Amino acid sequence: MLKVALVYPELLGTYGDGGNAVVLVERARRRGVDAEVLRVGIDDDMPDASIFLLGGGEDGPQRLGADLLRASSFSARVGDGAYVVAVCAGLQLLGHSFAVEGDDEYDGLGLVDALTRRGERRAVGELVVEVEGHALVGFENHGGRTTLGDSLAPLGTVRRGVGNDGAVDGFTTSRIWASYAHGPLLAMNPWFADVVLERVLEVSLEPLATTADLLYAERTRTLID
Ligand code: GLN
Repeated sequence: MLKVALVYPELLGTYGDGGNAVVLVERARRRGVDAEVLRVGIDDDMPDASIFLLGGGEDGPQRLGADLLRASSFSARVGDGAYVVAVCAGLQLLGHSFAVEGDDEYDGLGLVDALTRRGERRAVGELVVEVEGHALVGFENHGGRTTLGDSLAPLGTVRRGVGNDGAVDGFTTSRIWASYAHGPLLAMNPWFADVVLERVLEVSLEPLATTADLLYAERTRTLID
């Protein structure tokens, strides 16, 4: 059973990122894999799950989300081998610290060597990132700019928009994928949902030809040369 934990959707769900959970579960089921979404509310314990999803959020909810995550078993579960897909506020709070209203260095979880400071102006608009020759598309809306330590690899190269700093977007480790792209990310980029599923399930998947896959191909045909 693939258990997909959707973490604090009431805090980190402003931009519809909860759709990422639906996409993972549905694409797993279409390959004959039993899968379910575990909704983790702010009063719930962190469940035992294969993968945890963190979405975007406004500054206040992001700060509360970081506090609750710090007090939970989330980091221990990641240390024990769980996977994480994180978007925007979720991305920022995985690092050492991030900027929220009234505080430029609010403590993150420190799971990765990344730091988010306030940018000069908000990054709002379309985001296109090249990830291993694929276009990863979505939209961004954030005030923070993220700097990665030397040993932390970005998820990809920004072709349009800002991402972390105008040059690269997100980060990736053997267990974590993080991006500034909303959409939701995995609905807009079905190939990327399959990259995640293949790693988590330790299988190799045949492509699907759902409407989402076909629309992705049409939308992105000319985005990356
Ligand atoms: N509050 C964060 C920022 O503005 C994240 C916003 C978001 O998740 N879209 O940088």
